[in-house]
Amino acid sequence: MNHNNSLNSIKDEINNKVKIVVVSKTRSEKEILDIYKKGHKNFGENKVQEILEKHEKLPKDIRWHFIGHLQTNKVRYIIPFISLIHSVDSIKLLKEINKRAKAKNKVINCLIQVKIANEESKYGFKINEISDVISYASELENILIKGLMGMATNTDNNNLIDREFKLLNKEFKKYKSKIFNVLSMGMSNDYKLAISNESNMIRLGSIIFGRK
Ligand SMILES: *Cc1c(COP(=O)(O)O)cnc(C)c1O
Repeated sequence: MNHNNSLNSIKDEINNKVKIVVVSKTRSEKEILDIYKKGHKNFGENKVQEILEKHEKLPKDIRWHFIGHLQTNKVRYIIPFISLIHSVDSIKLLKEINKRAKAKNKVINCLIQVKIANEESKYGFKINEISDVISYASELENILIKGLMGMATNTDNNNLIDREFKLLNKEFKKYKSKIFNVLSMGMSNDYKLAISNESNMIRLGSIIFGRK
C-alpha cells in the first residue's frame, strides 16, 4: 500500500476540521520523511527514547505529539519541543510537567486521558475525576489543558465503541471553550465512529503505514 495515498484518501473523506496525527511509533525516519514531504506535520509517538531520537534527526518544524504512558522521570526530556501531550493520566504527572515547563519558561499543551474502556491495560482518569483534574490544572501556570483524549475498547463490537465515544464526547462538551477544544479519539479501526461522535483529532498508525 502507498502510504501517502492512504493518508490523502482519508483526508479527502473526512471533514477538514478533524486533525490527523500520524502515529509513527516503530516506523523509520525514512517512512516519516516520506509523509512529511507531502506536507504533513503532526506525528505521534509513545516512547520517550524514540521521540527524542526522531526529533533530533527529523525536520524541526514537525509537531510532535506524545500519546503513550509518560513516566514522570522522563518528562523533562520532551518539554523543550513537545507540541501536545495527549496522555496526562495522573496528578503526579501533571505536577511534574508543570515543574519542568516552568524551569524552561514554557506552557505545555496537554489533554486529560480518560479511561472509557474497561480494559485493564488502559490508563487514564475516571469520568468522575475529570472536573477535579481540570480545576487542579487551572491553578498550574505552565500547563494548558486543551481537551480530552480517550481510547475505546479494542473490539469488533461497534455498539460498545460507539457508547464509549459518546460518553467521552458528552464530558468534552461540558467543558468545551475557545481553549478547551480538542477531542482526541479514534484510531485506524474506529476513527469513523469517533468522527461521528464529534472527535476533532484522530490518531492513525497502521492504516497509514500498513500493519507490522
Ligand atoms: C498506536 C496508537 C495509535 C494508533 O493505532 P493504529 O491502530 O495503528 O491506528 C493511536 N493512539 C495511541 C494512544 C496509540 O498508542
